[in-house]
Amino acid sequence: MTDLQNRILAWFQKNGRDLPWRKTYDPYQVWISEIMLQQTQMDRAVDYFNSWMRRFSDIESIAVASEEEVLKLWEGLGYYARARNIMKSARVLQDKFNGLLPADYDLLLSLPGIGKYTAAAIMSIAFNSDYPLVDANIERIFARLFNLKKPVKEKETQAFIWQKAGELLPHGKARLFNQAMMELGALVCIAKNPRCKICPISKNCRAFSLGLTGERPILQEPVKTIFIEMATGILQRQGRILIQKRKANGVWANLWEFPGGRLEPGETPEMALVREYLEETQLAVSDLIKITTVQHSYTIYRVTLHCYFCSLPNNGRQEPVLHTAQEYRWIKPAELSKYAFPAGHRKLIRHLQNNMNLFQET
Ligand code: SF4
Repeated sequence: MTDLQNRILAWFQKNGRDLPWRKTYDPYQVWISEIMLQQTQMDRAVDYFNSWMRRFSDIESIAVASEEEVLKLWEGLGYYARARNIMKSARVLQDKFNGLLPADYDLLLSLPGIGKYTAAAIMSIAFNSDYPLVDANIERIFARLFNLKKPVKEKETQAFIWQKAGELLPHGKARLFNQAMMELGALVCIAKNPRCKICPISKNCRAFSLGLTGERPILQEPVKTIFIEMATGILQRQGRILIQKRKANGVWANLWEFPGGRLEPGETPEMALVREYLEETQLAVSDLIKITTVQHSYTIYRVTLHCYFCSLPNNGRQEPVLHTAQEYRWIKPAELSKYAFPAGHRKLIRHLQNNMNLFQET
């Protein structure tokens, strides 16, 4: 092994975090951790991972689980397609691979939700096979180590980084080395103000020697954020509230929600809510009472969500006719925690759970 490889491994041995999936390197646990870590901070991922493993200790338990339960456990992690793909893959693994992940890169790649990165992560971290790995942390290290002057996401730059990651990988040490690189990027070669003084590879780092660490990596133009306003309403009827289940495709598929939607030009939140209720359920709601306003983000959107209680005129008992959902239920407020909701509605629910007195009693 080269001196550079030795220094990276020695640093990891001393500084690597004690993460639950690092205890046994069980392939199933490595797979779930890698999927959870996509788009999620480490601390949050660890909490979700532990809850997940308490409920789904093996692939078979996911293969037979209901989507409702899986989504509920995933609630708050976002990007729900990841959870659905885990379920789909678990069923394939149960049917064709005896409930185990195959130690085969191409077979892994054929599973739903497993791309080049995740397949390489499973092969190297779970099976210790010589597969290089490049995530955002490792990209940043290479961009600085080689002082790359082109955007890291460009095809050519990516090819260069993957090639260098392969060249640097010590034979037979992929499990530790790939994790060491990711950890180095997460803890030392961080995006802002990298901690070069304690970096084990600073003497090899071109950006450091040139004083250019702040300018590397070069990122693409950030995607523009879109600000939108939405309104949602909790329809109350004799101590129960209306929730509806979104359709099985599109954004937040199969999650539950309160009816509502986006404000159209010139509309107040109240006008939008009445219109959305009519369009989505054919119910003409009235007596709007403001509950709160919550802010949340998804993909490129920053959403301001205006939240109301509403009711049907004259204590009406009409049932909704669904146009944008697949199912509805009248539930007790205390039952809200049984269902998986998207982020904005979950914030509203948390607010209500701290203020249960806000609900009508009958
Ligand atoms: S010296 Fe600094 S910039 Fe270079 S790899 Fe280490 S932490 Fe990153």
